Order: sequence, then structure tokens, then C-alpha cells
Amino acid sequence: MSFNLATILREPRREHPDKPLCHVNDLTFSYAQVDELSGRVAASLLRLGLRRGDKVAVQLPNLPQFLFTYFGILKAGMVMVPLNPLLRAGEVAYHLTDSDTKVFVTFELFAEEAAKGAAEVEGVTTYVVNLPGSDRRPEGTRSYDELFRAEDTGDIEPTQADDTAVLLYTSGTTGQPKGAELTHFQLYMNCTVGGELFGFAEDDISVAVLPLFHVFGLSSVLNVSVRYGGTIVLVPRFEVEPVVDAIERHRCTIFAGVPTMYFALLQADLTGRDVSSLRVGVSGGAAIPGEVIRAFEEKVPGVVILEGYGLSETASTTTFNISAEQRKVLSIGKPIWGVETRIVDDLDRPLPPGPEHVGEIVVRGHNVMKGYYKNPEATAGAFRGGWFHTGDLAYADEDGYLFIVDRKKDLIIRGGYNVYPREVEEVLYAHPAVAEAAVIGRPDDKLGEEVVAVLSVKPDAEVTPDDLVAYCKERLAAYKYPRQVRIVEELPKGPTGKLLKREIKKELYG
Ligand code: AMP
Repeated sequence: MSFNLATILREPRREHPDKPLCHVNDLTFSYAQVDELSGRVAASLLRLGLRRGDKVAVQLPNLPQFLFTYFGILKAGMVMVPLNPLLRAGEVAYHLTDSDTKVFVTFELFAEEAAKGAAEVEGVTTYVVNLPGSDRRPEGTRSYDELFRAEDTGDIEPTQADDTAVLLYTSGTTGQPKGAELTHFQLYMNCTVGGELFGFAEDDISVAVLPLFHVFGLSSVLNVSVRYGGTIVLVPRFEVEPVVDAIERHRCTIFAGVPTMYFALLQADLTGRDVSSLRVGVSGGAAIPGEVIRAFEEKVPGVVILEGYGLSETASTTTFNISAEQRKVLSIGKPIWGVETRIVDDLDRPLPPGPEHVGEIVVRGHNVMKGYYKNPEATAGAFRGGWFHTGDLAYADEDGYLFIVDRKKDLIIRGGYNVYPREVEEVLYAHPAVAEAAVIGRPDDKLGEEVVAVLSVKPDAEVTPDDLVAYCKERLAAYKYPRQVRIVEELPKGPTGKLLKREIKKELYG
């Protein structure tokens, strides 16, 4: 069946061509403008000789050019490969090579490093998006403006619903980056169902601060908003001020973020700021502590935080808490429409409900990727019996709500007892002085692993590591409480703001 994800632009473009699709600083681009400019990108890519299925890598922050390029690639039937702007030259080369990229679009601020990487790969043409008024570019690269020159796409070979639309490299917390192949149909279904979950409507205005090169930003923020004819406010980097400014200035109704963003907003002084337009806060990417939900909703009355769960491999949302009435705090919710989940043991046998039956979440449905690009071994490892294995540990309750206990790899085994870091972190977050916390296993000769908490504290907090050890000891079983607490300035985070436990472990214990 022929189908293209870019059709999500078509209806809002027809119904209200002049409506803003996105704002960024003082600029606004309407649906008609994004349609027109992305059409030019499509035509220019085709004129370069690229064809259906060819890969175009895009390494841009949340800027309008991201949208023109993304929809242009889709319209031309090519495959978008979003890359993290922070990649070093060697990593850029790895991604371009692994994905067979032909055209690479990057941004002036990272162009030097990116071009160094691209130069290592044969057959890649690099285009640079410049800052306003600048034309600085590394040698051998071209100006992004060249991708606006052609207008006529001519006859395009139609894409099929199961053609790959986006090749999404997973965040790296799962080992060597692998390209998850997401199809036009999967991404279409995910934004269609994803938007319905919290009643996304045409008059909704979302803060787009989650990076669009990550599945959460791409599918759950950008695609959802375009699919339902809404507006996004692009914020290129997470900082409290620009986010609050965006909400105030554009009367944003939806904020989607990872828990660390909620922590930061929670700690900010919002006196005199008007964020009353917000109605929904979507949280995902990592577990959000119940205490943060409670405090945030108290601080911003009228907002409800709804937690969801998903992976790059599942085109974003897999489970969701759909409303204040139906949510269960601490749960990641229930599988979304058209998606099934199961909790299975190590032999892939389904487990019954109950907190004592912790197993791996496996998924099947319209949202699950085709596989990892050119990596049949990793694909076979992830899919067994037709189910995609997430590597996340959870249990289901009697009502079908899932509770993530931890990631399989994060599990700490201390003297034969399983310690789920999440549980210890919940206790730490309930302490008034704790800002962010990560609980990890430190190699230990006698016990195998010892439980250690690495955390940052709120400004002006007066607390010692010993106080925090004692606090946990009072609240947790003897084998669970951290024997050591280390206080650091800041915890290392991934591109979306997710805490990188493996980095923390590596830094501390090699
Ligand atoms: P990524 O592929 O970068 O989106 O990472 C996916 C991983 O993020 C999942 O496998 C989970 O470990 C984690 N994750 C996503 N959402 C949640 C959530 N609500 N609670 C806990 N972990 C989550």
C-alpha cells in the first residue's frame, strides 16, 4: 500500500494554510510555508540524483530548518537519519557509514567537528545551516541554501507504508548505537494514537524543547502537533528561562519533557510568571518520582502530569496514563491502542499480575520497528516469538497498569539479593535536600555489588552524605539502603536529559 508520513502536513495545510506550525524566537512559519520550503528540499535532493530509500542524515538542533529538511526527505521518499549535535567526529563517521548516508545536513556551530567526521566517509555531501548573517563553513561543505533552489519534484516514486521513513540511532544506553528502522506507517500510527491519548487538539500549543532528533521529541511532540494541526514553539536547548518565556509568550498548553526537566522547573522561582495556560505535562524517557509529580502539580495548578513509556524501537509511545482520573502515579500506564505488552520471565513465559512477578516488558503492535538496519543478529536478539524485548523490568497490576522496576542492566545484585535502584531513588527523592539521584552498583569483592547513591543537592541545602545514608536506612530493608552516598555538582545526562548511569559508573569505577 502506498503511503507517506508527510501526508500529516496535508490536511492542516489545506484547512488553515496561514496558521503557525512553529514559532522560534521572533520567527513564525505557517503550515503553507513549511509545506513550500520542504517541497523545495525534496526537489533539490531529487535533483542531486538521490532516490527513494536513500539516506539523508540531519544533525540539527530544534530549528525550523529541521522541519523543512525532515518533511522534505519524507516527501522525496528518502530516509531521515537524525543525529545528535554533540557527536564527536569519529561518532559522526560511524553513524554516516553505518547508515549509508549520502547527504548530511549539519549546523554551523558543530560543522567543524561534523565535517571532520564526514570527510572520513566516502560519497557524503555535507550541507551547513548557517547562523543568521553568517556564511562560515568548513572547506568542502556546501551551503544549506542550495537545498532550496529546486522547486519541481516531478514524478516521485511513491513510498510504501512499510518503507523506512526514519532510521533512528538508539541513545547509546543500550551499547553500540544501532539504527532502528521506523516505517511511514508506524510513525503515522504512533502520532495518531499518541495525540488522542491526551486529547491533543488543533488549538494546542506545545513547547518543543525535547530534541527532535530523539524519538520522544520527533514523534510525540512534532508529529503529534502537525498531525492534529497544532503549533509548536521550538526551544533549541533546555534551560528554565527560555522554556518559561515560551510558555508565557505563546500561552503554551502542552509541555513534554523528561524528569530532569521537571526537576529543574520545580526548583525555579516562578513568582510573577504566568504559566497558567499549561494543561498537560507529558513525562517519559525515565521514571518520574511520585513526589515530583505531586510538587509540580501543586506549583503549577491546572496542570496534570501524565507519564508514558517508550523506546526508539517502538516509535515512541508504548504505554501511557491517559488522564488524571485514570492514571496511576508511579505506573507507566497501560499499552496504547493497537499495542500489546506482556511481562515475561527469562524463558519468555508470560507472568501473572502482581509485584512479586517482575519480568521483562515485551511489545508487539503497530509501533514496533522493522528491525535494526543491516544488523540481523541484533534484530534476532531483540525479537523472539514475534515480541520485541525491551530490556526493561516491570510488573503488571490486576488492572493492567505496568510498573517499571528497573532496566535489566541497572539491576544491582547485592549478596544475592536483587536491589532495584528505582526503589532506592524514590526514597532519596522524597528527601527535601535531594535534587537528582542515581543509584548504582559498585563492584565489591564480598557482595558482588554494593549499593551506592550519587546525587546532587538543591542550592543552599545543608545535608551530609551520612545524613542521607541514615535517612535511607530508616526507610529501606537492610540489603537495599546505600552504604555510600556521594554528593556531586551535577550528574551526567544524555541528549534528552536522561541520567546516564553507565557514565556515572564508568567515571567512578572505570
Ligand atoms: P530511548 O530508546 O532513548 O528512548 O530509551 C528507551 C528507554 O528509556 C526504555 O527502554 C526505558 O528504559 C527508558 N524509559 C522510557 N520511558 C520511561 C519511563 N516512563 N519510566 C522508566 N523508564 C523509561
